[in-house]
Amino acid sequence: MQVLYKSTRGNGETVTASQAILKGLSEDGGLFVPTAVPGLDIPLERLKEMTYQETAYEVMSRFLTDFTEEELKNCIARAYDSKFDTEEIAPLHKADGVYFLELFHGATIAFKDMALSILPHLMTAAAKKNHIENEIVILTATSGDTGKAALAGFADVPGTRIIVFYPKHGVSPIQEKQMVTQKGGNTYVVGITGNFDDAQTAVKNIFNDREMAKELGEAGYQFSSANSINIGRLVPQIVYYVYAYGQLMKSGEIEPGQKINVVVPTGNFGNILAAYYAKLMGLPVNKLICASNENKVLFDFFRTGTYDRKREFILTSSPSMDILISSNLERLIYRLTGESAEKCTELMKALSRGGEYTITDEMKEGLADFYGNFCSEGETREAISATYYGAGYVIDPHTAVAAGVYQKYLRDTEDSTVTVIASTASPYKFTRSVMDAVSDRYEGLDDFALADALSALSGISVPKAVEEIRTAPVLHDTVVEASEMPDTVRKILGIIS
Ligand SMILES: *Cc1c(COP(=O)(O)O)cnc(C)c1O
Repeated sequence: MQVLYKSTRGNGETVTASQAILKGLSEDGGLFVPTAVPGLDIPLERLKEMTYQETAYEVMSRFLTDFTEEELKNCIARAYDSKFDTEEIAPLHKADGVYFLELFHGATIAFKDMALSILPHLMTAAAKKNHIENEIVILTATSGDTGKAALAGFADVPGTRIIVFYPKHGVSPIQEKQMVTQKGGNTYVVGITGNFDDAQTAVKNIFNDREMAKELGEAGYQFSSANSINIGRLVPQIVYYVYAYGQLMKSGEIEPGQKINVVVPTGNFGNILAAYYAKLMGLPVNKLICASNENKVLFDFFRTGTYDRKREFILTSSPSMDILISSNLERLIYRLTGESAEKCTELMKALSRGGEYTITDEMKEGLADFYGNFCSEGETREAISATYYGAGYVIDPHTAVAAGVYQKYLRDTEDSTVTVIASTASPYKFTRSVMDAVSDRYEGLDDFALADALSALSGISVPKAVEEIRTAPVLHDTVVEASEMPDTVRKILGIIS
């Protein structure tokens, strides 16, 4: 079955998977969605025998139907290799009666590696397939983790350049150091004085700027996006939920067909949407538990049916979830409208103009698969400390938000379904918050001393990603205002001087 992609704000016109990957965002400002979510159509039992790479092929080939078997297997083999520090790629760790799905074993020790290690390969394969001669310019706004993972994925990939914008005061010191030390002749890293939403909005505007697209075309460039709106990000993220299910069967924790819950620490709604797509494919998933930090727009939305971004933007210890506009939610909204591009456009326009929208009661019924809650900063610290002192397992603040929300879910529902928590970052990426949550003994230590202390505490050696930046020189130090972003891009590409 061929799967095509249409825009959530379009007129029903379709593009192939490879075209959707190259475009990133549709020209009408909408997001690409499959015309129909394909079924997994293999016996669940078979999943327990499959490696991560084999599972990836089964899942991705269902969605990316204009890639040949050889192309796809090639992309998978190049992405999920020794860049990951474990052959399992995404191992499960049982602690406190729940399974942590560790998505942080890639090059930059956060879950963005799961998709961004394969996206450059999908994109260059897609460019070849579509006879693209322009150089592809990846333009990305990051709340911390995407930036480095995209830089690592695209560095020195022929035929591509990558420009990353990040909020200068909105990422952790390790995150910033990881980005500004990035090597590669085709990489550019720029801080902005605003927050993540400012950066993301400006990037979206650049993508929608026809005039600029024309200027670029004339200079031999075209934009694409590595943000989580790209279906080339979304599809690889479905894989690990399917893989986790196989592993749970393998260890005898569940029988084939038995439902599991999934808890996802959520920001842009990409990771949890991938879990939702896994469910739509036929993976037995009960509840999709959406965990927010104090920027709890989604919690309020699930509760009231009103999405309201008009509120204070709070900087928390889980910066990759400090987001007030969850872009990928648009794909769920579109589905809830019964795939009405008109209604979806109306709601999204209301959001960008007036800062809010409200869904109908009928649409709200479609949210029954989801449970939303949030953790305050204090609750997040408590979850880190409880998991460490209770199970000897150290988790990062993002994962801790999910663990804390799961406890609230248990209290609310007494649901005993086997549960998987998406563990989205290594604690080594957020050593300050993690160590402060465990004890006040660590005050005053610098980031690298903290990493050593964490190693002593957890018995897990300091990952290569952290060791590497201890002494690496800063190679990128530009800071601009969000309004200057378009001209910054033009300068980088030599269109203006
Ligand atoms: C990006 C990120 C998230 C949020 O994922 P979304 O797909 O944006 O919802 C959570 N935790 C970490 C560590 C991340 O990097």
